[in-house]
Amino acid sequence: MVEVKLQNIVKTFGETVALKGINLEIKHGELFTLLGPSGCGKTTTLRIIAGLEYPDTGKIYFGDEEVTYLPSHQKGAVLVFQNYALWPHMSVSDNIAYGLKIKKLPKDEVMRKVQWALELVKLKGFENRYPTQLSGGQQQRVAIARALVVEPKVLLLDEPLSNLDAKLRLEMRSEIRRIQRELGITVIYVTHDQEEAMAISDRIAVMNVGTVEQIGTPKDIYESPRTEFVASFMGKTNVVPAKIVERDGNHVAVEFENFHLDGLTYTGEGDRVVLVIRPERIRLKPGKNTVSLLGTVDLVEYYGFFIEVIGLFGETRLIARTISDKEVESLRPTKEVTFYIDRDDIIVLPKQQL
Ligand code: ATP
Repeated sequence: MVEVKLQNIVKTFGETVALKGINLEIKHGELFTLLGPSGCGKTTTLRIIAGLEYPDTGKIYFGDEEVTYLPSHQKGAVLVFQNYALWPHMSVSDNIAYGLKIKKLPKDEVMRKVQWALELVKLKGFENRYPTQLSGGQQQRVAIARALVVEPKVLLLDEPLSNLDAKLRLEMRSEIRRIQRELGITVIYVTHDQEEAMAISDRIAVMNVGTVEQIGTPKDIYESPRTEFVASFMGKTNVVPAKIVERDGNHVAVEFENFHLDGLTYTGEGDRVVLVIRPERIRLKPGKNTVSLLGTVDLVEYYGFFIEVIGLFGETRLIARTISDKEVESLRPTKEVTFYIDRDDIIVLPKQQL
């Protein structure tokens, strides 16, 4: 069952085309993340789903029902804002009860639901406090409780963790996932932080200047990026411009600097490409199907549970990541080093204008 469907959504603000035809199908009970850099259109997409903004063209469906032009209070999608937007003059209970009182529910039902929501977000005992008497994380929990208490069809979260410190961010991200799983609710989550998106999501849509470049599970997107933008946005990675010099069907040989790599796979067009190589896929020992690159060590960086070796290959810097102390023991800056990469671990993609 498809819970939320966006069909060809276009939205302009004056000269700016914020969304250039967005298509998304978000499943019932899924935590779906819109991920992309600042200004790519994430918030606009969320506001359109919430009914706080309307598209120029395109349609939105919740289940089988078209809801494109329904106002927000009739839509059944609730947006939790980045700054939580709690009422400062109302207690925690009153903040949470607000949406229910507007619906004119009987008092005892309101009380019951508020208690349920307080328990869900683990804020029992905080009923009578005011927002200024709460930590950032607690305010966030109130905002989520206030959204959930009206039993929305879809919960929309816009950068919900951006005002929290690093430790609390990790804690709240697990909390959001726990609540989402417990209720089986559909959540659409916006962030510009790829690590957060990877950790929390069932699926991710990676956005770039008003378009969706790829939709997939965190694993799909990390391991099989379909564009240079997606590859370089999903964490630390090596992206090396190269040129195709031989081609036989999908088998290609490429060159960069003075290196010639053959036996790679490429299904795209044109001869200007990039080689995408994840640092943890570069090895310091040869394997069965590896290509080798001879260069010099630029730096060795120790991160505790892994070590990065940054090698210079002509002008090109490549990062290799290993968990073995032994392998890097003898490596010193300016010394020679050979990086080995399995041909299957080199993703060849068309060069993009970024
Ligand atoms: P951020 O992470 O910075 O919030 P975003 O990905 O959420 O970015 P949007 O806020 O959706 O991006 O903005 C997309 C584009 O639309 C941007 O170029 C932005 O400047 C523009 N835009 C958004 N809202 C308006 C508005 N009300 N008036 C004019 N331009 C707008």
